[in-house]
Amino acid sequence: MDSALADSILAPSGAHSCDANAVTITDLRPTDDVLELRARVRAFMEEHVYPNEQALDREDDGSDKLVVRLRGIANDEGLWAPHLPPEAGGSNGSFLTYAFLNEEIGRSLWGQLVLGCQAPDAGNGEILWQFGTEEQKERWLKPLVAGEMRSFFSMTEPDVSGSDPTGLKTRAVRDGDEWVIDGHKWFSSGAEGASFGIVMAVTDPDAEPHRRATQIIVPADTPGVEVVRAIPTMGHRGRGWTTHCEVRYSGVRVPLENTLGEVGDGFRIAQKRLGPGRIHHVMRWLGQMQRAFELMCSYALERETFGGKLADKQTVQNWIADSAAEIQACRLLTLDAAHKIDQGDEARVEVSLIKFYAAKALNDVVDRAVQVHGARGLTDETPLAGMLSQARGARIYDGPDEVHRMVVARRILKSFASGDGWRFD
Ligand SMILES: Cc1cc2nc3c(=O)[nH]c(=O)nc-3n(C[C@H](O)[C@H](O)[C@H](O)COP(=O)(O)OP(=O)(O)OC[C@H]3O[C@@H](n4cnc5c(N)ncnc54)[C@H](O)[C@@H]3O)c2cc1C
Repeated sequence: MDSALADSILAPSGAHSCDANAVTITDLRPTDDVLELRARVRAFMEEHVYPNEQALDREDDGSDKLVVRLRGIANDEGLWAPHLPPEAGGSNGSFLTYAFLNEEIGRSLWGQLVLGCQAPDAGNGEILWQFGTEEQKERWLKPLVAGEMRSFFSMTEPDVSGSDPTGLKTRAVRDGDEWVIDGHKWFSSGAEGASFGIVMAVTDPDAEPHRRATQIIVPADTPGVEVVRAIPTMGHRGRGWTTHCEVRYSGVRVPLENTLGEVGDGFRIAQKRLGPGRIHHVMRWLGQMQRAFELMCSYALERETFGGKLADKQTVQNWIADSAAEIQACRLLTLDAAHKIDQGDEARVEVSLIKFYAAKALNDVVDRAVQVHGARGLTDETPLAGMLSQARGARIYDGPDEVHRMVVARRILKSFASGDGWRFD
């Protein structure tokens, strides 16, 4: 080990000193306004989403119509698109507030779609808002936020590691005033039935690795765009928004004006998109975990075996205690990261930390809740089986656990190596 690095680990040079700008626990409490808004979202979920979950799960023409109807109600109630500020067509704009709202929205897998803040459209909306030209905002952002069209984000490729996109092979070559795109992507979520995609393609293979790629807006009906198939995952093919698609791009021509941001800015924009996107996922997982936890506690108090309630068995009590600790730890880590982002900090360490920590907690909490329910936990009589099959992907999408651990450790060690240590503020 580098001796300076080792020294700084042993002597953290004020790493634990008190910082006057540190976040306090009161910064992370919802204000009365936020509590009132959260109560409205909860009431909406109770009245319109939970009673319709099984109909929505059928994913047929009827459920498509139901989504449209419920979206109309969400809009009328001023709850639409809470991930974006009003000037971008949304109803909120603060990350911290959005975290509190997502504790309600995330409780159902359908909450995000019904309230117009679903991945990947939410992230695409955010980068169009931040980097789009006025024309791009008018043509793509406005109808996207209004819920009149859906989109997809096309970065991952089957032939190269998605964890390290410096190896992307999809190429966009300039020909006059057009890009010509050729490549093969997969896991482009929601591509089936979407109106456009944001495609990450290599535009300068000779540039340094993080300047090679560019984000390009590609209308889905452009000749050469082929949604090859919806890839079944965990036995689920999906429909429309819930699909994960393989997409081929063969000689796809789009005007240069479809470049999002600057040429070569693909990684910077992807990072801007994925950072907030990751914490949006985690916020929703808080809702999933809390719902699973409530189901676990209620069922443990009700079900009897070997002459007593499940709630009286110490193993079940341990599951409940461990879950309570993990959920609250995830909440506080998420609120802390959201607060820092609202203050203008990218919170790279905090976001990576909560991404891998909460993905594991989500899987553990939901799995314990299923176990407490026995065979019933695997049926569609509770939302737990659906939650369990969705939860596994959380440890992979938007960066696998191992990559986020690497990011956290590298940044902390770099800070120690430079003599700054690490402050838990
Ligand atoms: C449900 C779902 C939805 C998705 N939606 C989209 C989407 O809309 N658009 C899109 O572009 N992509 C999407 N993806 C793709 C996703 O972002 C990638 O799967 C992810 O980045 C990992 O890439 P990979 O699958 O190629 O795995 P690889 O990069 O091949 O990694 C395989 C495994 O190697 C291990 N690993 C990797 N790096 C390290 C390391 N440094 N140290 C130790 N171990 C390591 C990890 O365990 C990892 O799981 C989605 C994926 C899922 C599961």
